[in-house]
Amino acid sequence: MAGKLQAKGLETVEDLLFYPPFRYEDRSRFLPFRQFRDGQSGAVLGIVASTRTKAWRKGAQLLFEAEMQDEQGNRLLARWYNAKYLANEIVPGLRLALFGKAEYDFQANRTFLAHPEFEVLPEEGDPELALHMGRIVPIYETIGKISRKQIRRFQAKAIDAANELEDAMPREIRERYRMPSLSQAIREVHAPPNEISIEALNARRSPGFHRLIFEEFFWLEFGLLRKQREAKGNPGIAFALTDNIREKIKAMLPFKPTEAQKRALKEIATDMAKPSPMNRLLQGDVGSGKTLVAAEAAVIAIENGYQVALLAPTEILAAQHYLSLNRFFKRIGYTIALVTGSQTAREKSQIKKVVAEGLVQIVVGTHALLEKDVEFKKLGLVIIDEQHRFGVLQRLFLRQKGATPDVLVMTATPIPRTLALTLYGDLDVSVIDEMPPGRQPIETRHITAAQSKNVWTAVRHQVGLGRQAYIVYPLVDDSENSPDLKSAQKMFELHQEKTFPDFRVGLLHGQLTPSAKEEVMDRFKRHELDVLVSTTVVEVGVDVPNATVMVIENAEKFGLAQLHQLRGRVGRGAHGSFCFLVTGNLNEISEQRIRAMVQTNDGFKLSEVDLEIRGPGEFFGTRQSGIPQLRFAHVLKDREILETAREEAHLFLEREEGTPRLRQAVEYLEQRWQRRYGLAQVG
Ligand code: ADP
Ligand code: MG
Repeated sequence: MAGKLQAKGLETVEDLLFYPPFRYEDRSRFLPFRQFRDGQSGAVLGIVASTRTKAWRKGAQLLFEAEMQDEQGNRLLARWYNAKYLANEIVPGLRLALFGKAEYDFQANRTFLAHPEFEVLPEEGDPELALHMGRIVPIYETIGKISRKQIRRFQAKAIDAANELEDAMPREIRERYRMPSLSQAIREVHAPPNEISIEALNARRSPGFHRLIFEEFFWLEFGLLRKQREAKGNPGIAFALTDNIREKIKAMLPFKPTEAQKRALKEIATDMAKPSPMNRLLQGDVGSGKTLVAAEAAVIAIENGYQVALLAPTEILAAQHYLSLNRFFKRIGYTIALVTGSQTAREKSQIKKVVAEGLVQIVVGTHALLEKDVEFKKLGLVIIDEQHRFGVLQRLFLRQKGATPDVLVMTATPIPRTLALTLYGDLDVSVIDEMPPGRQPIETRHITAAQSKNVWTAVRHQVGLGRQAYIVYPLVDDSENSPDLKSAQKMFELHQEKTFPDFRVGLLHGQLTPSAKEEVMDRFKRHELDVLVSTTVVEVGVDVPNATVMVIENAEKFGLAQLHQLRGRVGRGAHGSFCFLVTGNLNEISEQRIRAMVQTNDGFKLSEVDLEIRGPGEFFGTRQSGIPQLRFAHVLKDREILETAREEAHLFLEREEGTPRLRQAVEYLEQRWQRRYGLAQVG
C-alpha cells in the first residue's frame, strides 16, 4: 500500500493531508427515491433488494443491475454496463450510497441510475459509520486498488495527528485575507464542519480551500521570484549596444521591423546590456517574425566578441533557421555552422574544431548541440526555438556551457500572460503581438470527408494561379491499427497519379533521411514542386511565402496547437490563403477544436481554448515545462487567486529583504515544498 501511495507522491502523513478530495457528498440528508427526477444528479441511499446480470441487447456485453429500496420502501434501479464483476461485490442486504445521474428507460418505463459511483456502507452500529455517513463526506480519487473509503479512513487518522501543523503563511497576509489557520483549513477540507456549505466546498471556494489554493500559489511564486532574483545576481555578460552595432543591424535587415519587433528587441537589448544573465522568453504567434528579433540579438552578442548558439527542436527546423539566418547574415559577413545528428563524424569534428577556435560566429543545431563535446570559444548568447519541446533541464544544461551566457527562448505557442508568469516565473517575457505588414488573412473552412472533392478543386485553382499547397496527413504510411486514418505515403501516390497528375507533387515525412528531407524542402522552396504531401514535420518554422493552401486531412486527429502551427505555414506572403480542415466523424472535443480554428486566427485565443479543453497538465506537459503538480490550485480556474498570491509573494520578498523572517520562509520552502512539489526542478 505504501508503494501505491508513494507512486502518487504520498510518503508522509503530511502528504496525505495535502491530498484533497475531488468532490463532496451530503450524506446527512439523502433524497428519497421518489424525489429523484430524470436528468438530476445526486447522492441517494438504499438497501440492495435484488440483483441480476443480463444482456441488454443480443451479443452485447453483460450488464449488472441492482434493485435498490429506500426507507420509504420505494424502488430505484441502478445499472452498470459491462460490469458482470460487480455481482461479487453488490449483494442483497447491503446498504449503498450511490452517486449518479437519473435517466429514464422508455422500454421499462422507469427511472434508473446509469453507472453510478457507489460505496458499500458499514452496518448500523459499526463505529466507522460516522466516517462515511450522516455528514458531508469527502470523496477521494482511488489510488491503485486503494478504495475511497480506505483513503477516507487514512485521512481521518491523519487529521487526528495534525493538530499542530506548522503555519508558515506570513501572519499579515493571513489576516488581510481572513484566512483560517493551516490546521483549520486542512480539517475543513477533509472533515468539513456542518456550517460550511457543500456548494462552496464543491466549487473549491470555502475558506479552507481558498487558503490552500492561495498558499500553493504563494509558495510557488515565492520560489520562482527568488530564483529570478538570484539568477539576476549571477555574474553574466554586459553587452554594449553602440551606434556601430545599430548600424550593423540596420545593414542586415531586409525589411523594416514592426513596432512589436522593435519593442521586443529593445527589451532584449536592455537585458543584454545588464551585467546579469538574461533569461527571456520571446513569445509571438506563428509568423510574427521572431527569427528577425533573434538575429538582431545575435548581432549584439557577436559584435561584442561572443558566439551565438541557436537550438531548434528538429533537423528540418535547424536547417530552416540556418537558411534564413544566412540570408540575414551574409549581408554582414558572419559565418554560420550547422550541426546535425546526421553529419558524419568527420564533418562534425571539423565543425567542432572551428567552433572551438572561434572561427564561426553562430552555430545552429538540434539537441546534437547539447552533446558535451561541442565547445565554444566564447559563448555569449543561447537562442532556443520552440521552448515547449525542450525540457527545462536541457535548458539549464546548455547554460552551463559558457561563462553564463544570456538565454533567449522563442516560443510560437502563445501562453496566456498569467500562465507564462507562473510557468516561467524565472523568465522575463517579451511579446510580439503584431504581424508583419501586408499579411493576408487566412480563410479557414471545415470540410467533411465527403466534400473533399471541392478542396482539390480549390487546390487546383491556386496552383493554376502560380501558388503552392501543403496537404498534411496524420500517418506516414497506412496502418492496420488505424484503418480510418489516411497516410502521407498512400495519399501521395494517389494525388500524384489521380488527383493532380499534371502537377509536381512531393512527399515529406519524418522517416526520410535528413538529406532527402532537406532536398524535398529545398525543391518546394524553389517552387520546383506545386504540392507538398506531408506529415506534421512541416508543423513548425517552415517558411515558404508562395504557399497559400494548407489542407489537413483527418484534422480531427490533431491537437489545437498543432493545427494552428500547421495553418501558420500559409498566409506568409502577399496572397490570400486558405486552410481546409477535412474531417471524418467528430466527437465533442474535436468539434470544439475545429470550431475554434474556423472562428479565429489568433493564437492566444486558441491557446486559451486549448487550455480549457485539455487542462494545464496536458497542455504544458508537466514534466517538460517544469510546472509542479499543484494539489489544490488549478492554474486556469484559480487565476485570480494566482494573481493575488503572486503580488503578495512579491511584496513579501521586498518587505523582508535580509530579515530572519525571510530566511525562515526560504527554509520552509526548501524543506516542505521542494520535495512535495518538485520545485527544485523549476527554472
Ligand atoms: P516566426 O515568428 O513564426 O518564427 P518568422 O520569423 O519565420 O516567424 O517570420 C515569418 C515571415 O515573416 C518570414 O518570411 C519573415 O521573413 C517575415 N518577416 C518577419 N518580420 C518581417 C517584417 N518586419 N516585415 C516583413 N516581413 C517580415
Ligand atoms: Mg520561427
